[in-house]
Amino acid sequence: MNIHEYQAKELLMKYGVAVPKGIPALTVVDAVAAVKQLPGPLYVVKAQIHAGGRGAGKFKNNPAGKGGVRLCKSEAEVKDAAQAMMNQVLVTKQTGPEGKEVQRLYVTDGVDIKKEYYCSVVLDRATSRVTFMTSTEGGMDIEDVAHKHPEKITRVAVDPATGFQAHHARKLAFGLGFEGETQKSAIRFFTALYKAFVELDCSIVEINPLIVTDKGDVMALDAKMNFDDNALFRQKMVADMRDETEEDANEKLAKDHELSYVRMDGNIGCMVNGAGLAMATMDIIKLYGGEPANFLDVGGGATAERVTTAFKIILSDPSVKGILVNIFGGIMKCDIIAQGVITAAKEVKLSVPLVVRLEGTNVQLGKDMLNNSGLPIIAANDLADAAKKVVEATQKATKAA
Ligand code: GDP
Ligand code: MG
Repeated sequence: MNIHEYQAKELLMKYGVAVPKGIPALTVVDAVAAVKQLPGPLYVVKAQIHAGGRGAGKFKNNPAGKGGVRLCKSEAEVKDAAQAMMNQVLVTKQTGPEGKEVQRLYVTDGVDIKKEYYCSVVLDRATSRVTFMTSTEGGMDIEDVAHKHPEKITRVAVDPATGFQAHHARKLAFGLGFEGETQKSAIRFFTALYKAFVELDCSIVEINPLIVTDKGDVMALDAKMNFDDNALFRQKMVADMRDETEEDANEKLAKDHELSYVRMDGNIGCMVNGAGLAMATMDIIKLYGGEPANFLDVGGGATAERVTTAFKIILSDPSVKGILVNIFGGIMKCDIIAQGVITAAKEVKLSVPLVVRLEGTNVQLGKDMLNNSGLPIIAANDLADAAKKVVEATQKATKAA
C-alpha cells in the first residue's frame, strides 16, 4: 500500500525523523490559511498524488506552466500556486500519460538547501536484510546513478539479529561525506529512519531528496513510503491513511475478489491461473511480438463468478484489443473454466478476439463446451500456439479498427 507524502512525513516525524513543518490542505482556502501557521518567508506548495517526479511534472491544462512543487514567497503566491494545482491533472514520469488529478495539497515551510542527496531503505530479498542505499547524487534518477556511477552509491545491510548499530549509521554518514554537527544529525536521522521502517512494516522508504540545510541539519525534503499489505492488520494508523481515489479502480475490484491483477501498457488482456503461468504467458506474448495489457492470476480455486469478474476487469480496459485465456486445470477442472468463460463472454458482450488454451483435467469436455457455445472463440493447442494466435488476432483487430 502507498500513502501520500504528507502522511509519510507525519509518520516519520513520530519516529524522530527530521522533516520541514507542513500542513495538508483539501481546498485552496485551507492552503492559504496554512501560511499563517508557518514561519515563512519561503513556502512550498506541493501536489499530493501517489507518484513522484511532481516538480518536473506538467499540468494538462497548462503544459507550459510550472509543475506540482512550487516555491512561494508570499500568501498571494501560495494562493496562485494552490489554484493552479487543485483539481487539475498532473502528468509526471511516474503517472503515465493519463496523469493524476490533484485532490490534496501540502503547504510546507520552505527550507534553504545546501545540498541534495538520495536515501532509500528497502528489504533486500536476496540477503533477507533491510538495506540502506544512499548517494551524493540527490534529485537524480537513482537507476541512472546505479548504472553510470555505481561507486557513488553506499549500501549498508542490517542484520536483523543485531538491528541498526552505530557503525551502520557512521558508514552511511561517512559515505555522504558528512562531518561535525551534520554527521551527528545524520546519525540521528538514519537511526530514526530504520526504526520507522521496521516498526511500521514498510517495504520501501525513499527520501529523495534528503537534504543538508544551510544550518547543517539533515532533513527529509520528500518522502515516499510503501507498506507490506500482509502486515496492515497490525498497522491501523497506516491502514487508515489509505486513499482509495489514488488506486486503480480495477486493481481494487480485483483485490476485493481475491484476484491478483496489475495493469500494464500493452493491448493483450491475459487471464491465467497461477502466478508462474501468468508470467510465462506474458513472456511468450512478448516473444511473439505482442504486449500484455495486464497480469491477472485468477488463482487455483477460481469459480465461474471469479472468472466473470476477471473478464469484466480485462474488458473494461479500453486498450485491450484481444484476450488470451490460458488455464491449466489441476485443482480446477477445465469444464468449470469453460463454463466461466462462456458465461462471462455472454454477460459482458465480448467485442475483441478471444483465444483460449486449456490443459489438464476434463480438457476434452471443456474444449467441446467452448466449441459448442456459439461464441467466436479461437481454440489453441499449446502455449506457443495460443500466443501466436492472440498476437495475430489482436494485430488484425487493431488494423481493422
Ligand atoms: P518530486 O518532484 O515529486 O520528487 O518532489 P520533491 O518533494 O522531491 O521536490 C522536488 C524539488 O523541489 C526538490 O528536489 C527541491 O529541489 C525542490 N524543493 C522542494 N522543497 C523545497 C524547499 O523547501 N526549499 C527549496 N529550496 N527547494 C525545495
Ligand atoms: Mg522527490
